[in-house]
Amino acid sequence: MMGSEKTYEIGDLKEPMQNINIKGKIVNINLRKVSNERGESVYHYGIIGDRTGTIPFTAWSLSSSLKQGDVVAIRNCSTRDFKGSIRLYLDSSSAVKLLPGEDMEVHRSSASLKIGQLSRSTPYVSVRGKIGKVYEREFEKDGKKTTIYSTSIEDETGRIRLSSFGKPLEEGSEIEIQGARLSEYNGSLRISVNENSQVSKVKLGLKIGERYHDIGTISSPVGGISIRAVCISMGEKSGLIYRCSECNKKVDEIRCNDHPDAPIKYDIFAYFTMDDGTGTIQASAGSRAMLEILGIKEEEFTPQNRAINKNMIRDRIHEKMLGRAFKISGDVREQNVGLSLRGFSISQISDQDISAMTLEQEADFQ
Ligand SMILES: [Zn+2]
Repeated sequence: MMGSEKTYEIGDLKEPMQNINIKGKIVNINLRKVSNERGESVYHYGIIGDRTGTIPFTAWSLSSSLKQGDVVAIRNCSTRDFKGSIRLYLDSSSAVKLLPGEDMEVHRSSASLKIGQLSRSTPYVSVRGKIGKVYEREFEKDGKKTTIYSTSIEDETGRIRLSSFGKPLEEGSEIEIQGARLSEYNGSLRISVNENSQVSKVKLGLKIGERYHDIGTISSPVGGISIRAVCISMGEKSGLIYRCSECNKKVDEIRCNDHPDAPIKYDIFAYFTMDDGTGTIQASAGSRAMLEILGIKEEEFTPQNRAINKNMIRDRIHEKMLGRAFKISGDVREQNVGLSLRGFSISQISDQDISAMTLEQEADFQ
């Protein structure tokens, strides 16, 4: 007999633990392909839960037929810290047994998740983080007035929009919300606080810097994240676009149908595929993020400047982006093509930064 026979409940897991057995229900499962010089490999990641809680997992040897809702018994798995939170790892010595016909209640509300791990598969969550700028407005329903506080909440893994119905929130404060409702709007996740949620002040001492994510671990549309990756291909339609200076809408011809007298202004739409060795993601950016990379000053970027035209911008994007390494910071959104990163700032980094990063990741997955 090898290993321990004890089966742990997910709520009792700590890190690091080796050779442990658990039984749980797959709350969410995704597949990711990684290619490097050793070839292409495939791993799964997701969330598994039982009546005591949920935990994210990474599995390097899992049957592709497993799906959301399956109840499984896992032997010989381990836990480790991954970027400040506990994660379950399955490798080639782990054994996964499907328990057909079994169901299991998953306790989701106690799932205290980092913001970067939130996903639509956990509709009620507990999160802790720091409150951003707060906007208040009155809302009337059935003759009853409520104040809505719109803001954001962030931790060291991401940032997400937050609306509180009736419960005041204070800018800069650190709070814990239990029983927040998670939903998706326009491709971004957001959470809301209502009368069933509990809000309490906590001391987290959060120091929020750059939130670097490996592309392979990005699994949900949250904001405020950064990647370091190489631009491996450009979208064909990347280039110069025109906007109406009155309504900011993109216009195809020389004027806006609604504001024919308003002058047009220039913008850039660039989209490209970024690869950091752990995966690829589609990223896009506008002129604010792109002009510096392209070596164009903002005051030169006007329709009056004859040096600027569609061909010039398209060629410049190809020349300055393709095959080079960048740091991109922005928001991840869920679109019909999958997750994509809307970049608000882009800066070039050296290839050394990328190779150091790749070594770090390989060490992590060994
Ligand atoms: Zn217009």
